[in-house]
Amino acid sequence: MNLRCVECGKVLPPEMLYECDDCGGILEVIHPNGVETDGALQTSMWRYSKKLPVRSPDHIVSLYEGMTPMHRALRMEQSLSGFRGIVYIKDETTNPTGSFKDRLVSVAISRAQELGCNGIICASSGNAGASAAAYAAKVGLKAIIVAPSHTPIEKLTQISGYGATVVLIDGHYSHSYRFAERLAKEFNYVNVTTTYLNPYGTDGLKTVGYELYEQTGGEIPDYVFVPVGSGPLVKGVYQGFQEALRESGDARKGIPKIIAVQAAGCSPIVKAFYSGDMEVTAWDQPATIASGISDPLIGYEKDGTYTLRLIRESGGGAVSVTDHEIRNAMRILAQSEGVLAEPTGACSLAGFIKMQQNHRISQDSKVVCMVTGHGYKDFKVYREMSPVVHQLKSPDDTESIRQLLCLSPD
Ligand SMILES: *Cc1c(COP(=O)(O)O)cnc(C)c1O
Ligand SMILES: [Zn+2]
Repeated sequence: MNLRCVECGKVLPPEMLYECDDCGGILEVIHPNGVETDGALQTSMWRYSKKLPVRSPDHIVSLYEGMTPMHRALRMEQSLSGFRGIVYIKDETTNPTGSFKDRLVSVAISRAQELGCNGIICASSGNAGASAAAYAAKVGLKAIIVAPSHTPIEKLTQISGYGATVVLIDGHYSHSYRFAERLAKEFNYVNVTTTYLNPYGTDGLKTVGYELYEQTGGEIPDYVFVPVGSGPLVKGVYQGFQEALRESGDARKGIPKIIAVQAAGCSPIVKAFYSGDMEVTAWDQPATIASGISDPLIGYEKDGTYTLRLIRESGGGAVSVTDHEIRNAMRILAQSEGVLAEPTGACSLAGFIKMQQNHRISQDSKVVCMVTGHGYKDFKVYREMSPVVHQLKSPDDTESIRQLLCLSPD
């Protein structure tokens, strides 16, 4: 196992490193030669432990993350005019803390245990912090979570419920990112921030690609729609598919086109994609209900640039969605498919619907939408969606219920 810089190719030893010491580039894990596991862990993403960057099974910190369901969205397919294809929902809301971040944090903290660790720090818009807090609790590590002050209260409550120390900072996510970096250095804590910063954590996301490959039975989807902040999940889907194809001898089939979905109020990667730029520039003033991807990338624009490169390599694209389109997708997911997603988690579906309706993808496409975070994590939008809660006036008032359901008396 080694680390390698994705920019200059320099190979580095598998220590707790966060950037290339020559060029400052993003690091990735190569040749992870992991471990064999058996028993209960086989029901989690650790069934791929041989490909993950942890050397001893004793160091694995798991809450049984991954191996999430993929369901076909039949009612939704039928409601889209002109569409003749297939849509699957990869339901990452079923992870232990309610988002796909559990995959990344499980590997990052396992590797941190292996290399020796005083405690962990995580900059987070909420979900990564909840993961970090839960996995730290599982092994009794101190955890400090740095989050923007405007983080949804449900996420902050979840984090403090796991016993982590929560530090709030005014302003957008990039302020939290910078402060966490400073704290981690000062305290000598491991930084498990879920941008491309922690190469071991990022490596854990390729399990999504392996699972998608298996769950689609070797029938490669045409498109995978992914909500994107800085983009490690894009790498996970890309790399996981690539490795699964290579191993199965299917390499000529080619990987799916990956579509990065960002919120219109914070879409630095989409902007660069349509400008034909090779480099992403930071976003000025993020403004969106999708708090999980409200990341202006200030100071780590290179993360966006790397994601842009992967999207283009996959033959994919990018799309931005408005808050209105996100709300609509949340409603459809919940009311046609029974999946309650937070605004960020529904962005993938919003992006797909937009491209389908604008005829930017073929009407017989086979599509996967990554639903990345649970609706319990941010209730504000659902609360505003005129909930059908009915206060009964008297204990035998069935008539008002009949009126609610628009039934006529027998
Ligand atoms: C973090 C997060 C994302 C964005 O993923 P990145 O790969 O870090 O850009 C998407 N959805 C949810 C719910 C998230 O928490
Ligand atoms: Zn380098």
